[in-house]
Amino acid sequence: MKCDVLVIGASAAGLCAATAAAKGGAGVILMDRDLDQPTHTANTLFEGMAARAGVQIDDCYVQKELDGMRIISPAGHGVTVPASGYFIDRQKFDRHYCGLAEKAGVMLLSGEAQSARLDGSRRTVTTGSGAEEIDARVVVDASGIKAVPARRAGLQPVRHPEDIAWAMEAEVEHPGLGDEMFFQYWIGSMAPGWKATFSPAGGERATLGVFVRGHGQNVQSFFRSFLQKFKAYKAGEYRDIEDMKILSVKRGGDPICVLPGEIVADSFMVTGGAAGQSGLAYGMRAGTICGTVAAEATAEGDVSCRSLSDYERQWNSEFFWEYRMGRAALETLQGLKDDEVDRLCRSLSGKTLISDGSFLKKAAYSGAKVALARPSTIFDLVMNLAKG
Ligand SMILES: Cc1cc2nc3c(=O)[nH]c(=O)nc-3n(C[C@H](O)[C@H](O)[C@H](O)COP(=O)(O)OP(=O)(O)OC[C@H]3O[C@@H](n4cnc5c(N)ncnc54)[C@H](O)[C@@H]3O)c2cc1C
Repeated sequence: MKCDVLVIGASAAGLCAATAAAKGGAGVILMDRDLDQPTHTANTLFEGMAARAGVQIDDCYVQKELDGMRIISPAGHGVTVPASGYFIDRQKFDRHYCGLAEKAGVMLLSGEAQSARLDGSRRTVTTGSGAEEIDARVVVDASGIKAVPARRAGLQPVRHPEDIAWAMEAEVEHPGLGDEMFFQYWIGSMAPGWKATFSPAGGERATLGVFVRGHGQNVQSFFRSFLQKFKAYKAGEYRDIEDMKILSVKRGGDPICVLPGEIVADSFMVTGGAAGQSGLAYGMRAGTICGTVAAEATAEGDVSCRSLSDYERQWNSEFFWEYRMGRAALETLQGLKDDEVDRLCRSLSGKTLISDGSFLKKAAYSGAKVALARPSTIFDLVMNLAKG
């Protein structure tokens, strides 16, 4: 088989990369090992982030609308951030973007990519048991956190891989739980380095998860203790919360705090979670930039690393600063003790934090330069802003 662009991974980033490449005129194959029964994790999106990434949310996959998020400290102090959000039906989401890809001319293929060998100015991708080969002018690795094709091609696609947050997320069921209007996330020692989350899915359904940095990939013990904490927190609102059912569990890695590393080589690009570009909406935008550049390069007949580096340049100009700031903020969070998180949330509670408004912007931008040099100063900065 031959094509201009072969995309490995039909999730958020890969679907957008394939669609953009096909719209740019390339002949595209999109391959996934779980094409028939995808089990993707991400299920919550906020309007602000989607708008920032240029993603238009489609009603067809919105399962429940949310009014915002609540950040909760270990002692239970809450800060409310009003912001339109969505719990999405992930199967409908995947089907919708698969449909758009097919409409743009993408050919879908079931199979597992093993490696992407460079042959002159093309790549040969070996699939499954090695029996089949696909010959592509550009291969895009959108295969998620493990990025096996990229690593086998000799790339280190993320910087700071030790900072990946390893996650365990359960779908749960309890009368009324899914009808809550706020996404909630707890910060502190119940999920060191990042967060524990509650996302209401409508009716009786919700998801509960922990995302932990610096404690290895098995985060089950953190999940168990969060579950207890969550039930204690909700006991006043729900009778019999102890009987809440766990329906299914998913595990994975969230590259929330890493930065993209080597994401371009001759005839090769890496995008989405595989490239440390965390989050659904931002992964979709990264995939779109990647696919657009891949199509332009194949049309011009130059798929060298130099030519494909336009992707890296565009991504850096749109997002690098924001990711760098996010990393500095999470480095601060990792260093905070529970009583400091409590103090922070207590001093912010009652203030209106508007996600696209001046308070957060002031916090983010006025301290940016200092924070990059000394991340712990973000804590002092926010405390001062909260007082002022
Ligand atoms: C538990 C959990 C919950 C999360 N929740 C959210 C959330 O609510 N909102 C949010 O914005 N972000 C969330 N994230 C982060 C988000 O999931 C990722 O940033 C994003 O999904 C990455 O998307 P992706 O398209 O890059 O890759 P993935 O979604 O990881 O998909 C990779 C695809 O590649 C395929 N694949 C892998 N290897 C191969 C191979 N060798 N050959 C062929 N196919 C292959 C897989 O089958 C899969 O379909 C969550 C992460 C985790 C772990």
